[in-house]
Amino acid sequence: MNIMDVVLKEIDSRRDDIVKLVQELICYKTVNPPGDTIEIAGFIKDYLSDCGLSVNLYESQKGKVSVVGTLKGRGKRRFIWDGHVDVVPVSNPESWIADPWEGKVVDSRIIGRGAADMKGNVGAAMVAASVLAEKDVGLMGDLVLALVPDEETGGYLGSGFLVDKGVLKGDACIVGEFSPFNTLCVGEKGILWLSVKARGIPAHASVKFLGVNAIDLLCQFCSELYKIEQVDRTLPEDVNRIIDAIQPTLKQLEALGFPRELINKMYKRLSVNVGMIRGGEKVNIVPANAEGEVDIRILPGMDYDLVKEEINKIRIDFNRTLEKTYPNLKSAGIEGITVEETLRFEPSYQKLDAPLVPLVKNVIKKVTGREPSLFVHTGGTDARFFRAKGIPTVLYGAGSETGHGINEYVPIEGLIEATKVYALAAMDILGTT
Ligand SMILES: [Zn+2]
Repeated sequence: MNIMDVVLKEIDSRRDDIVKLVQELICYKTVNPPGDTIEIAGFIKDYLSDCGLSVNLYESQKGKVSVVGTLKGRGKRRFIWDGHVDVVPVSNPESWIADPWEGKVVDSRIIGRGAADMKGNVGAAMVAASVLAEKDVGLMGDLVLALVPDEETGGYLGSGFLVDKGVLKGDACIVGEFSPFNTLCVGEKGILWLSVKARGIPAHASVKFLGVNAIDLLCQFCSELYKIEQVDRTLPEDVNRIIDAIQPTLKQLEALGFPRELINKMYKRLSVNVGMIRGGEKVNIVPANAEGEVDIRILPGMDYDLVKEEINKIRIDFNRTLEKTYPNLKSAGIEGITVEETLRFEPSYQKLDAPLVPLVKNVIKKVTGREPSLFVHTGGTDARFFRAKGIPTVLYGAGSETGHGINEYVPIEGLIEATKVYALAAMDILGTT
């Protein structure tokens, strides 16, 4: 039997171990915020050390502990597998079919907070490393496992910290997030959050012409902002190639009932969502203040700073119009609308001509028997930190669309496949003797 088949057979025989490990990981309430990972990091460190990996812990901030385990190989190459162990809160545990912190198995699925996002795949990667260590496959480079905190609140204190410090550097990276439809994800949108503030002039509602209504200003400005959604954007050739390549996956979305026209827009345009509005004091007062929070999604290949410039121009033009419409604002020295960035996730993508893309695709096909199509995530992940440093990075993992939701689950079959894909990908990327 060749060494790959030995590894695959061993993983099949460890099915129950994989389930048990994922259940143990789910039992740690690593809810973020606050996102404390001290205890789970201790557990993972013991597990990986027992498997023969050398393990280091890094604490970027009190309680935000990352585990980096290395399975030493013979050459200089380094392959990084990255996953996060923090999870989002559970707001209504009573509406779940099982305790979210237990990892109960129902119908060949593990139910629990973090099962899909993404303790299932963390468990899969840990077992993959354990099998590679035990079977002494003769890796020609280092397999580096990074199990990190903070992803659910931006990732800067987990993967971002380790990449910045130079702890995580290498020749290729797989981020083990759930990839829908068994796809290989080669890009993700960027996120820009804005806090938009409007200032007006208070007055009695019965003589409202004496004041300026800040809520009205905010709403008018937001409708100006929505206009950036209407523009078809020119994307770099590399990104156009990716959009062509993800068409089979988009067809699957269409089959689920997503209208084609809206899917197309999702991959050609920015999207704007005004998610929060606060303002006013009392119904009979012209409000002097209003504030909105806006979420903007930016496609891979779009220039983040150009988008911000575009928004700033809209703001300047809007305030200029205000000066004419409401001279009393100008004489009171009030600017009208101010805009502040509150969160920044750069979009990122992996060029298709990197050897990593066909390599991992082939591994997925070998393991699952299905040719995987490609996908671009609409959300942001830690992959962007690695891509920013020029490390070829793709995203693959088991899971379900229930991440962050009620009855979050991961199918056990998917976990076994993911374990196999991670193990074989490490062997292919690093080479074996
Ligand atoms: Zn995640």
